[in-house]
Amino acid sequence: MLLWRYYKSRIKALLPHEKVGVSYDWITKERVCARMPSLYVHVPFCQQKCDYCAFYSHSLRDSPKDLISVYLEGLEMEMAKRQKDAPQGVSSLFIGGGTPTVLQEPDLERLLGMIQRYFPMNLNVEKTMEGNPGTLTDEKIQLIRSFGINRFSLGIQSFNDELLSTVGRVHTAKQAREAIGRLRNTGFNNLNLDLMFGLPGQDMMIWQATIEEALSYLPEHLSLYGLMLEEGTPLYDRYSGEACPQREEQALKTTGDITIDSLPNEDTQAEMYEWVVKRLQQGGYRQYETSNFARPGYECQHNLGYWRGANYLGIGPGGVSCLNRVRWKNIEDVQSYEDLLCKGQSPLDQSGQEVLSLRECMAERMILGLRLGEGVELKAFNDDFGADLRDIYRDVLERYSARDVFVVKDGYLRLNSNYAFVANSIFQEFV
Ligand code: SF4
Repeated sequence: MLLWRYYKSRIKALLPHEKVGVSYDWITKERVCARMPSLYVHVPFCQQKCDYCAFYSHSLRDSPKDLISVYLEGLEMEMAKRQKDAPQGVSSLFIGGGTPTVLQEPDLERLLGMIQRYFPMNLNVEKTMEGNPGTLTDEKIQLIRSFGINRFSLGIQSFNDELLSTVGRVHTAKQAREAIGRLRNTGFNNLNLDLMFGLPGQDMMIWQATIEEALSYLPEHLSLYGLMLEEGTPLYDRYSGEACPQREEQALKTTGDITIDSLPNEDTQAEMYEWVVKRLQQGGYRQYETSNFARPGYECQHNLGYWRGANYLGIGPGGVSCLNRVRWKNIEDVQSYEDLLCKGQSPLDQSGQEVLSLRECMAERMILGLRLGEGVELKAFNDDFGADLRDIYRDVLERYSARDVFVVKDGYLRLNSNYAFVANSIFQEFV
């Protein structure tokens, strides 16, 4: 879901796609997948909403009791309808949210069972589930393992309890430690930890302590995202004063050792990012994407697919799909999602479907691919678009050639890592 947030906040702002009234069935009947898609299943439920979160999810505390059953009924109908979009199977699975692990065992079993029935996958296909500390029992983890989930992504964000509570996370650092122990004891040997920097009250020392503790658990993968203030969230409202866009230091009150409600400014955030990049390199992690680090061989295949321009199917309310240049998003409402499917209609949101022009697809490929350490593969670009990207973007490449912003090496074009922090302004050039 992080990737969709990136798409929404960055690419969509750059590329106003054409909207067309193509019907859902038109896609499934006429557009045969040229490439095997990955499968994302959205579980839109959390214990309660975090203060910074703009993802689509329902707080279970405020939801009707039968909402999960309604969701699962809709999901099964959508899977039955969509399995024909992946005639050769799917290349990876990611069950995200929300917090999939808030589902109780019988619901989890039903969810995993339907994925297995409609989208059977070989043992060695990467299958990830997301979850949060405080929602994982040994029984749930064993159940998840028994369905072949072989990668787990745990939303820790910080090992500092004061920071966790400041941003409305419901779990504690102790629960995060317990969850890691449980996952390891139950045999998960491909573990991602999600951590955040730029949190209110976070300074370099607190950030470094979180990273050092994370490293002590030897995770195979780390995802590190800077806090984004999203409109409509409590955190945005808390910081929507004039100083906010410039991320000036704001010290509003002090609790214990931490100045709560002070946002690190851009310089501090840049220092946090630069420090962690070096620290993880020393620790044997490869930065294979701007925000993602892995021990060799543990890069997330599912997310690599998005960055390399592969097809993807997103099932569930709020799920986003893109097949052969046609992209659409499901409605973000469990009841309407299920109602539409019950009536035999497609559960799309009001924006309908977008047909991306060739030019837009190329720009997306560049913008997403240049976030990767490897960059954009020249041959893959040529295979997909029938053109050499050095010809298509000759002007841009020449404009930046004096500063060595781009590097062509071993069949890839990549961004010089010195420019990672100003990448977004450079990406504008490809639009
Ligand atoms: S757990 Fe994740 S999806 Fe749920 S509210 Fe918090 S940030 Fe959002």
